[in-house]
Amino acid sequence: MNVCYDLHTHTTASDGTLPPSVLVARAVAAGVDVLAVTDHDTTEGLLEASIAAKGSGICLVTGVEISVTWGGQVVHIVGLGFDPENKTLQAGLAELRRFRGWRAEEIGRRLEKHGISGAYEGAKGYSNGHLISRTHFARFLVEQGYAPDMRKVFKQFLTQGKPGHVAGEWADLGKAVGWIHGAGGEAVIAHPARYSMTRTKLRRLIGEFQEAGGAALEVVSGSHSRDEAFTMAKHSRDFSLRASVGSDYHGPETPWADLGKLSALPDNAVPIWRGWPDLAVSIPA
Ligand code: AMP
Ligand code: MN
Ligand code: MN
Ligand code: MN
Repeated sequence: MNVCYDLHTHTTASDGTLPPSVLVARAVAAGVDVLAVTDHDTTEGLLEASIAAKGSGICLVTGVEISVTWGGQVVHIVGLGFDPENKTLQAGLAELRRFRGWRAEEIGRRLEKHGISGAYEGAKGYSNGHLISRTHFARFLVEQGYAPDMRKVFKQFLTQGKPGHVAGEWADLGKAVGWIHGAGGEAVIAHPARYSMTRTKLRRLIGEFQEAGGAALEVVSGSHSRDEAFTMAKHSRDFSLRASVGSDYHGPETPWADLGKLSALPDNAVPIWRGWPDLAVSIPA
């Protein structure tokens, strides 16, 4: 039996557009067998997702995508299969959300100075009482006509050197991996081909991640080309890491990264689920 894995998705608990229960239903309909909900810096959506998953036949893996600063850049570390009640992990995530709260106000103030009023309130409206990400600012700015689409709005307003960009320190790489491990989970470098790093710098990141106890690279990603997947599979083997698969689905508005529509892992990659014997047996045949 071909088991369909999607181990990187977002809900309204962070910057996705579907509530966790709706995401789970769509994943079931899309033929996903094993799903991880991996919201940015929060596990808030996991309870609703697990209730929706019950009896649906889908196997839900606990997940999170942690914002990390490494080598002067933001890097995302996905955690899978951990205990969401773990106090150290939750304290770390709470600290990141506190920074997010301040950053959102600061982005609002900077956009205000740039002549764009009400952006903080607008972004907050899109976040529906959950954490505020740049994606929520982007949706507001596009809706107000400041930019034609999501790609352009990031480029014009929300990235380094642009009026709504706020630099900051996210989690330390070793600490983020440690939180995930301490909670019994496994750490994955999310979309490793997306960091605009030289090959040398990327391999330094992978080396430090492996030394810290990291488990896998996200080899197949909704944001990777097939060539990038092959390159990342090679890196994973070079560092004795396993390989993960995730769409990075944010909702039906971004159909290029659809649920469960991912290509297979390259043959030479070791799937992250090879270390998950219990999950495999819980999937109904
Ligand atoms: P944040 O963690 O609040 O800084 O927001 C980062 C999120 O913004 C990412 O997880 C993506 O969902 C989104 N994002 C970043 N860059 C872009 C881009 N160029 N186009 C569309 N979405 C982006
Ligand atoms: Mn996102
Ligand atoms: Mn990411
Ligand atoms: Mn993501």
